[in-house]
Amino acid sequence: MRHTESGGPVRHRDRGQWLPRFSDRVLVVCPRCGGRAEVTPRPGLPPLKYVSELLFRPRRLTCAGCGTSAGWQAAERGSGLVLARLGGTEDPFFRRPLWLQTRCAGHVLWAYNEEHIEALAGYVGATLREGTAGHTQAMFPRLPRWMKESGHRTAVLAGLERLRALSACSSPGDRSDAAH
Ligand SMILES: [Zn+2]
Repeated sequence: MRHTESGGPVRHRDRGQWLPRFSDRVLVVCPRCGGRAEVTPRPGLPPLKYVSELLFRPRRLTCAGCGTSAGWQAAERGSGLVLARLGGTEDPFFRRPLWLQTRCAGHVLWAYNEEHIEALAGYVGATLREGTAGHTQAMFPRLPRWMKESGHRTAVLAGLERLRALSACSSPGDRSDAAH
């Protein structure tokens, strides 16, 4: 068990963080050059009132490496918009492979951006997890079981370290072998 300098367990308090919160900036594999591109809400829109708006706001994909840019809009059904479905190793909007993916403990570990990596590292690295009940959409309770097993902690933390390194890279040659 990991301990803090004071000898106590490393605590993690689940504040009910919701995966959509991390979808404000999604790093993806560029459809043209294979380097790192970004998927973000289209600029110039009014500030968010609710995090859930990130699931249907118009998006754009931009690549600083090759200059590619593309747009996305939520499909309409009846009088409403179809919300993007988060989860898995593709970005929820353009269905591009996530840039931040790595093989880990027989699975694929993924994240949307640097802030998401840090949130996962805080959770996985903790030896004492204080949950918050009642958040049916909360991210941490919904993580796959293999990521939460204490026997995988070292492997998952090493995987998150690889994702940190990937987040600092952007050229096509830096692409993870898991990102196909
Ligand atoms: Zn590109």
